[in-house]
Amino acid sequence: EAKGNDFRVAVYGPEMDSGRIERLALLADLRLALITHPEQFVLQYQPKVDVHSGSVTSVEALVRWHHPTLGVVPPDRFIPLAESTGLIANLTPLVLDAALRECAGWTAEGIAISVAVNLSARNISDENLPGRVAQALATAGVSADQLILEITESSVMGDPAQTLPVLHQLHDLGICLSLDDFGTGYSSLSYLQRLPVGEVKIDRSFVLGLAGDNRANSRALIRSITGLGANLGLRIVAEGVEDQPTLDELRSLGCDIVQGYYISRPLGATDLRTWLARESA
Ligand code: C2E
Ligand code: CA
Ligand code: CA
Ligand code: CA
Repeated sequence: EAKGNDFRVAVYGPEMDSGRIERLALLADLRLALITHPEQFVLQYQPKVDVHSGSVTSVEALVRWHHPTLGVVPPDRFIPLAESTGLIANLTPLVLDAALRECAGWTAEGIAISVAVNLSARNISDENLPGRVAQALATAGVSADQLILEITESSVMGDPAQTLPVLHQLHDLGICLSLDDFGTGYSSLSYLQRLPVGEVKIDRSFVLGLAGDNRANSRALIRSITGLGANLGLRIVAEGVEDQPTLDELRSLGCDIVQGYYISRPLGATDLRTWLARESA
């Protein structure tokens, strides 16, 4: 058994499909870009709006990769790659620093909003994360209560013994943790009390469900989440809001904050400023 040949066979063998070659090429580019061209990673910001007052409470930073030949690569194409290869450990600090820099700018301009950054499972398994985040906040001159870190249930529950201490340290810094894509993962509502989260984001699939054939199910699920949120003192966000009837229904179901194309698509930093100025006018 010539073990040494396995790799070559795997890479150049006839079974090698074009999807896999593409993936390897993208991975090579990703690794290079993270090291030598971090400016290729550009953030867009999507507003999260108070469902009663309509005011913007925060914006979620969503990363795009401006690839030199492929154009704009959406996160769904490279985040999973970054996660499976460990490169997410390099990407998240880039995103965090850029988001905090932008947030410091808003504060200086008198715009009082928080910024939300997405974290992956690997990030919250890293015991050095809380120290790094504290350092990033200090460097940017942003206070901890202006930062929201979005985590998913599955990334927490993958290895709770490892992730829970990290989450508690982040919470102790004064950062708001937000449980993203809620309802799609383990969904152990009882576990929610043990997590140091201040916000829960109901996944878009349930919000979409409000307009579907099974709307009674979505409505019941959302009502149970908002009821729990009220009891536990959690802010409830609904993502993926695409029309006014859905927004009205989410308000009546007890959601606090809405986010989605109906309010605004994710915007570049400049467009966001224009949008915010128009909203507050
Ligand atoms: P997510 O955190 O659930 O982000 C919401 C996604 O839904 C975003 O897609 C957003 O553009 C999209 N969206 C927002 N409102 C609507 C709507 O009304 N309708 C529809 N159809 N879609 C809506 P995006 O930007 O492509 O991001 C996809 C996912 O990539 C994110 O899902 C998040 O899991 C991940 N991601 C994005 N940026 C980062 C990052 O900096 N770090 C990490 N770890 N993950 C990221
Ligand atoms: Ca998110
Ligand atoms: Ca989400
Ligand atoms: Ca989602």
